[in-house]
Amino acid sequence: MKDYYDVIVVGAGPGGSIAAKTAAKNGLDVLLIEKRQEIGDPVRCAEGIGKERLKHHIEPDPRWICADVKGSRIYSPDETVVEMSEELSGGEVGYVLERKIFDRELANQAASYGVDVMVKTRATDLIIENGSVCGINAMHLGNEHAIRSRIVIGADGVESKIGRWGGIDTSLKPADIEVCAQYLVSNTDIDFNYCYFYLGNEIAPSGYIWVFPKGENLANVGIGILGSRSGKHRAINLLSDFVKQKFPEGKILELDIGGVPVSGTIDRTIANGLMLVGDAARQSDPITGGGLVNAMDAGEIAGNVAYEAISANDVSTKMLQRYETRWRKTIGQDIDNDLIVKDKFIEFTDQQINTFAHSLQGVNFKSMNLKDLLYVLFKANKRLLWDLRVLFKGYTKQNRKCEWESEIKS
Ligand SMILES: Cc1cc2nc3c(=O)[nH]c(=O)nc-3n(C[C@H](O)[C@H](O)[C@H](O)COP(=O)(O)OP(=O)(O)OC[C@H]3O[C@@H](n4cnc5c(N)ncnc54)[C@H](O)[C@@H]3O)c2cc1C
Repeated sequence: MKDYYDVIVVGAGPGGSIAAKTAAKNGLDVLLIEKRQEIGDPVRCAEGIGKERLKHHIEPDPRWICADVKGSRIYSPDETVVEMSEELSGGEVGYVLERKIFDRELANQAASYGVDVMVKTRATDLIIENGSVCGINAMHLGNEHAIRSRIVIGADGVESKIGRWGGIDTSLKPADIEVCAQYLVSNTDIDFNYCYFYLGNEIAPSGYIWVFPKGENLANVGIGILGSRSGKHRAINLLSDFVKQKFPEGKILELDIGGVPVSGTIDRTIANGLMLVGDAARQSDPITGGGLVNAMDAGEIAGNVAYEAISANDVSTKMLQRYETRWRKTIGQDIDNDLIVKDKFIEFTDQQINTFAHSLQGVNFKSMNLKDLLYVLFKANKRLLWDLRVLFKGYTKQNRKCEWESEIKS
């Protein structure tokens, strides 16, 4: 076992594997460690991902694609259905993955660029000298090892400790986390061209239930509810009720419990010699809880910045600020916008959600872009859209003049 690398990446989820691959592609000597004995297992994910952003990182492969969906069906509390094309459905609709194979393939690709991969290896602490992170202590098969590096990338997921050890505040309040439970259900008999979302304060307080097809008769059926509302309601009980009602013939083949950060961006994701990516950096989408592509995008940025910093022989926060700036300009903007929508959404009554759904009846979502969609919503729900006006700024900024902006102002 080597005791020195240019970069150590902690956590072999999608964010960590892409960070490791990118750093190695740039010629750095990289170690990727994973505390579990099998990369990708157990899965804590509904496994939905948008196609375009995925393709930026990896060529789609039938070995890890369970379903290729063409859109989503969203059910309001009174069961009004809104159907949306895949492009409009957000970053979690497109393919449904088999993450056990997908995550392993991402690590395999990193390995093909020369990354050393160690499973069953848990980071237990950071080595910090003169105010800069310069390695990790790790437990591998019962033995403690000190492994030094120029940079550590913390990609250790929602329960991340790397950030805290490095002096970065990643703490989450109950209102900043969706508590999730998911079953893999057989005999579901759904149209597997769609991902399904069920909204309503009765069935999923400040959250939603999803049904994502995983192939013939199988589906990931899960629920996320806001942590601050999970005292009175238990996610697993609400999910069991839903499954009993919707899929009376369904048999449960797997159970996953997990949390998703929905806090929006945190103040800082770097320290001297340290960058955080993915769920560890709280980069998941506050509305949907989806974090796969954001983690991968951030991993790529971190891998490139690691190379620039090591080439310049400067791993200080001043240099690593490049990572901070780049991800905030891209995925950070979406996260901030979606936080505004989420904070509004969780205040909605079931009646308001129904009104929204009714206002979208008869709308052809196949020929619509996001602006058109917002317009329809605005016409039907003027007051609410005024509260969300900050979202429209992007259109004017990018010279995509929003013709109906004056209408909103009035
Ligand atoms: C129920 C549920 C459903 C979801 N559904 C979707 C969805 O459909 N689409 C979507 O885009 N997102 C979804 N998400 C979110 C998505 O799973 C995460 O955003 C994504 O996995 C984040 O990737 P990551 O690489 O940052 O972290 P992770 O995938 O969590 O990987 C972190 C890795 O670090 C390892 N690790 C942790 N600590 C250590 C340590 N000390 N030493 C070594 N290794 C360590 C962990 O074992 C893990 O393998 C869902 C989440 C949940 C809980």
